[in-house]
Amino acid sequence: MNFKIPEFPSLQFGSIYCIGRNYAEHIKEMKSSQTASPVVFLKPRSSLIFNNGAITIPEDSENVHHEVELVLLIGNECRNVSKDSANKAVLAIAVGIDLTARDIQTEAKKKGLPWALAKGFDTFAPVGNFIAVDHSVDLQNLEISLSVNGNLRQKGNTSNMIFPVTDIISYLSHRFTLYPGDLIFTGTPEGVSRIKPGDKIQAQIGNHLSTLTVHVQA
Ligand code: MG
Repeated sequence: MNFKIPEFPSLQFGSIYCIGRNYAEHIKEMKSSQTASPVVFLKPRSSLIFNNGAITIPEDSENVHHEVELVLLIGNECRNVSKDSANKAVLAIAVGIDLTARDIQTEAKKKGLPWALAKGFDTFAPVGNFIAVDHSVDLQNLEISLSVNGNLRQKGNTSNMIFPVTDIISYLSHRFTLYPGDLIFTGTPEGVSRIKPGDKIQAQIGNHLSTLTVHVQA
């Protein structure tokens, strides 16, 4: 696979960090509880797909959910950045979907096991086009939505994040060195639901700044 980022050809996709439980209404629908610090997990690069790509439902799951999210593209190497300077690390944003095998995740949660298997299958990280951000864009006031076969399933605003982008970047960078090309999925608002073979999924962020259309392989 070619990991070059089309909009930034000098960069390659790197690590894919993801934040869980970052919107109160999603925590409620999952009957989950809020945490004092961000919930962090990772996906492998092999889970990436792009506009017009196809999601494959894995054989070992009968309940794959969409989770629409703001995705950050890191533009410079950073370690131990403060919340005040964290925004400078963001080169671009995109809309993305954190696909989740909910049945596998539920089992993992029960057993206290990691989420890698539930979150990391091939095709489980679709991302839309990347839009460079100048720092007049307010990352904490972006509309985000997702529809399946034309029916709106998720609609939220990044203003409802529990841990804003600056907190997430600062928190991660105190534990992992972030590199140009790394992605951060920042959590999903409410409305997650099951996808089925043949579904057409459309997502967008920031009044169509970044858009994504993918389908589920029949
Ligand atoms: Mg998620």
